[in-house]
Amino acid sequence: MACKACSSENQANFSGELTVAFPGVQRLNLAPIYVCQKTLVCLDCGYTELVFPATELEKLRKGMKGYHSNVQFATEHSRLL
Ligand SMILES: [Zn+2]
Repeated sequence: MACKACSSENQANFSGELTVAFPGVQRLNLAPIYVCQKTLVCLDCGYTELVFPATELEKLRKGMKGYHSNVQFATEHSRLL
């Protein structure tokens, strides 16, 4: 599968660790979500993909619940295909 950003085939899987902070002043009291997951990294442009585990994804949903959905997460994430 080619990189979604630059179409390069030069990609590799790594074990990655990520801490996601919730956006917005109103969520400063929420603990950041930590995930350790396989990541697919494009070795040409750096574009990286990972899949959040279901447990951590639910924590993100709960943390975002009750606020307007037009705010962006502090980090970009997408699904591996
Ligand atoms: Zn790329």
